[in-house]
Amino acid sequence: MIKLKQSKEFAADWRRLSEETPAAVRQLVGEIVRQQAAGLADLFYRNMLADEEARTFLGNDIVNQRLHAALQRWLCELFSGEQQDLEDIYKHQCSIGEVHARIQVPIVLVMRGARMLKHAIHGYLVESSMGRGELVNATNFVAETIELALDAMTDYFIIDMEKQTRTDEAYRMFALGQNMLAERERQRAAILEWAQQILLKLLADGGTAELPEIKHSEFGMWLQHKAAIIFESAPELEQIRLRIEEVEKSLFPKLLESRRNPGDAGTLMKQIEAGIAEIKFMLGGLFDRFIEVESGRDALTRLLNRRFLPAVLTREMSMARRSGAPFALLLLDLDRFKIINDTYGHAAGDMVLQQAADLVVGSVRAGDFVFRYGGEEMLIVLVEVDRKQALHVAETIRQRFAAEPLRVGDGQTVNITASIGIANYNGHPDYETMLKDADGALYEAKEAGRNRCVVAGR
Ligand code: GH3
Ligand code: MG
Ligand code: MG
Repeated sequence: MIKLKQSKEFAADWRRLSEETPAAVRQLVGEIVRQQAAGLADLFYRNMLADEEARTFLGNDIVNQRLHAALQRWLCELFSGEQQDLEDIYKHQCSIGEVHARIQVPIVLVMRGARMLKHAIHGYLVESSMGRGELVNATNFVAETIELALDAMTDYFIIDMEKQTRTDEAYRMFALGQNMLAERERQRAAILEWAQQILLKLLADGGTAELPEIKHSEFGMWLQHKAAIIFESAPELEQIRLRIEEVEKSLFPKLLESRRNPGDAGTLMKQIEAGIAEIKFMLGGLFDRFIEVESGRDALTRLLNRRFLPAVLTREMSMARRSGAPFALLLLDLDRFKIINDTYGHAAGDMVLQQAADLVVGSVRAGDFVFRYGGEEMLIVLVEVDRKQALHVAETIRQRFAAEPLRVGDGQTVNITASIGIANYNGHPDYETMLKDADGALYEAKEAGRNRCVVAGR
């Protein structure tokens, strides 16, 4: 992507620099650079390769040769002294920046390389037959030209790195989020397959053959290679490994033994079954926890996890500041929720929470955000609403809670109400203030008898 404005600025700066520098000086610089191009490229890469970080992407012979030639061409182009198409030169700098971004050269290295080149060319200029006045002119010309080229490169580099970061993030979400549900089922099945294979083997050849080790099974390889990356150092992983070891190293051999003493076989089979069920359960839990965190959603209600709240509010704040379109926060707390838990049990409470979340999500627009803020509290971010609209949405939600009975299992239902505190964006740049306002308003709503909406700052 070539940015027209930058391209024009580049051309204007380039022309100014040409006008400020006498033609004779430009020509002399061009000659010196052309003569020394190979030496400069040598010096440049020798220095770069001394850097451990740079070595990782420049160390390869082919890369080295190509870049060596490319650097010479680049220098000759910048200092050719001829009339050139400035847009072409600009585009060329952009494409260099693009390559740098693609191979992920740290920007500081590019800067350092440029400094080194300026310094080396300056050395050649000093050794030449130039007079003092010309030397000052020439030095300045070299420095500014290289900086100009670097500007164009960096410009593109940054655009490309942003794109790259988005791609990485998308990839992570794809690899770790999207596939996780399928992966969970697959690995649970793989555990069973492993156990079945062993049991079949035990039955088939009377336990004389070597038992297949889990580390060579599909599940074992997955655990070894992938799980360690995905779940990093989750404590469940170690527990899963220990449990597997127990089943494999202790229970299976005992089962082999039991052929001589069949009385124990039944108990052992039960222990093995329990061991495998436990491994499956721990693995499922690990996946669930991970899917929850990765998808940013709360596992019970499927609402947004509140750890994303700062990011969303910061963004909404700055959008409201720029566009002038206000937004609102609704802090909703279910009334006397504890009674539901006490009367129908925690599982029923969970059911009610899920339905409450659905009710709220179904009452707002797709562009709004609903977070699980606390146990039975939700925070709703209503985008682009004024005070009147915000109150209207809050009232609709409150009325729906009051009107719709929610299921608690066994065909029973309960009626539950909600209290809502509303805070409207008032230009204050700190979202914490808005949260505090909403909290204060909610408190007022509770104090005033519940099942009501209160707007902060009225
Ligand atoms: P009020 O807000 O009207 O003052 O009364 P309340 O009873 O709703 O208030 P309180 O905040 O004291 O109690 C909230 C209860 O919500 C306590 C807690 O057991 C329950 N709770 C929180 N999170 C969950 C959950 O995930 N599942 C279930 N079942 N209950 C939860
Ligand atoms: Mg409550
Ligand atoms: Mg509460």
